[in-house]
Amino acid sequence: MPTPPPFMRTCPQCAELLGALVEAFAQALTDPHYDGAERIQIALARHLADVHPQALPAPHTDGCPSCARYEELDPDSVFLREHLARGLFLPDELARLP
Ligand SMILES: [Zn+2]
Ligand SMILES: [Zn+2]
Repeated sequence: MPTPPPFMRTCPQCAELLGALVEAFAQALTDPHYDGAERIQIALARHLADVHPQALPAPHTDGCPSCARYEELDPDSVFLREHLARGLFLPDELARLP
Protein backbone atom coordinates (compact mmCIF):
# COMPACT_ATOMS: atom_id res chain seq x y z
CA MET A 1 0.00 0.00 0.00
CA PRO A 2 1.34 3.47 -0.82
CA THR A 3 1.53 6.03 1.99
CA PRO A 4 -1.64 8.10 1.64
CA PRO A 5 -1.24 11.88 1.39
CA PRO A 6 -1.59 13.78 4.70
CA PHE A 7 -5.04 15.19 3.91
CA MET A 8 -6.42 11.64 3.94
CA ARG A 9 -5.44 11.37 7.60
CA THR A 10 -7.04 14.67 8.57
CA CYS A 11 -10.32 14.20 6.67
CA PRO A 12 -12.48 12.06 9.00
CA GLN A 13 -14.22 10.26 6.16
CA CYS A 14 -10.97 9.41 4.34
CA ALA A 15 -9.39 8.25 7.60
CA GLU A 16 -12.38 6.05 8.43
CA LEU A 17 -12.48 4.46 4.96
CA LEU A 18 -8.71 3.95 4.97
CA GLY A 19 -8.92 2.19 8.32
CA ALA A 20 -11.78 0.03 7.04
CA LEU A 21 -9.76 -0.83 3.93
CA VAL A 22 -6.76 -1.98 5.95
CA GLU A 23 -9.05 -4.20 8.04
CA ALA A 24 -10.77 -5.53 4.91
CA PHE A 25 -7.44 -6.43 3.29
CA ALA A 26 -6.46 -8.25 6.49
CA GLN A 27 -9.76 -10.16 6.51
CA ALA A 28 -9.40 -11.04 2.81
CA LEU A 29 -6.10 -12.75 3.62
CA THR A 30 -7.89 -15.28 5.81
CA ASP A 31 -11.18 -15.49 3.87
CA PRO A 32 -10.82 -15.73 0.08
CA HIS A 33 -14.57 -15.22 -0.42
CA TYR A 34 -14.66 -11.95 1.46
CA ASP A 35 -15.08 -9.07 -1.01
CA GLY A 36 -15.51 -6.16 1.38
CA ALA A 37 -12.21 -4.58 0.31
CA GLU A 38 -13.56 -4.00 -3.17
CA ARG A 39 -16.64 -2.16 -1.90
CA ILE A 40 -14.51 0.05 0.33
CA GLN A 41 -12.11 0.87 -2.52
CA ILE A 42 -15.07 2.01 -4.60
CA ALA A 43 -16.50 4.08 -1.74
CA LEU A 44 -13.15 5.71 -1.02
CA ALA A 45 -12.44 6.48 -4.69
CA ARG A 46 -15.95 7.97 -5.01
CA HIS A 47 -15.41 10.11 -1.90
CA LEU A 48 -12.03 11.37 -3.16
CA ALA A 49 -13.49 12.15 -6.61
CA ASP A 50 -16.41 14.06 -5.04
CA VAL A 51 -14.76 15.87 -2.14
CA HIS A 52 -11.05 16.13 -2.99
CA PRO A 53 -10.92 16.57 -6.79
CA GLN A 54 -8.04 19.06 -6.50
CA ALA A 55 -5.92 16.50 -4.62
CA LEU A 56 -6.04 13.80 -7.28
CA PRO A 57 -2.94 12.77 -9.25
CA ALA A 58 -2.61 13.83 -12.89
CA PRO A 59 -3.76 11.34 -15.53
CA HIS A 60 -1.23 8.61 -16.26
CA THR A 61 1.08 9.53 -19.15
CA ASP A 62 2.43 6.08 -19.99
CA GLY A 63 -0.33 4.87 -22.25
CA CYS A 64 -2.79 3.87 -19.51
CA PRO A 65 -5.81 2.46 -21.41
CA SER A 66 -8.28 3.54 -18.70
CA CYS A 67 -7.12 7.17 -18.75
CA ALA A 68 -7.24 7.22 -22.57
CA ARG A 69 -10.76 5.80 -22.61
CA TYR A 70 -12.15 8.14 -19.96
CA GLU A 71 -10.46 11.23 -21.42
CA GLU A 72 -11.86 10.45 -24.83
CA LEU A 73 -15.38 10.08 -23.44
CA ASP A 74 -15.29 13.08 -21.09
CA PRO A 75 -12.19 14.62 -19.48
CA ASP A 76 -14.35 15.88 -16.59
CA SER A 77 -15.95 12.51 -15.94
CA VAL A 78 -16.25 11.25 -12.40
CA PHE A 79 -14.99 7.87 -13.64
CA LEU A 80 -11.64 9.39 -14.61
CA ARG A 81 -11.42 11.09 -11.20
CA GLU A 82 -12.24 7.82 -9.43
CA HIS A 83 -9.65 5.97 -11.53
CA LEU A 84 -6.96 8.53 -10.58
CA ALA A 85 -8.08 8.59 -6.95
CA ARG A 86 -7.33 4.86 -6.60
CA GLY A 87 -3.63 5.64 -7.08
CA LEU A 88 -3.65 7.56 -3.79
CA PHE A 89 -4.37 4.51 -1.65
CA LEU A 90 -3.67 1.40 -3.74
CA PRO A 91 -0.50 -0.08 -5.23
CA ASP A 92 -0.24 0.76 -8.91
CA GLU A 93 -1.18 -2.69 -10.20
CA LEU A 94 -4.43 -2.67 -8.17
CA ALA A 95 -5.14 1.02 -8.75
CA ARG A 96 -5.18 0.56 -12.49
CA LEU A 97 -7.59 -2.36 -12.64
CA PRO A 98 -10.52 -1.29 -14.79
ZN1 LIG B 1 -11.87 12.86 2.53
ZN1 LIG C 1 -4.82 5.73 -15.85
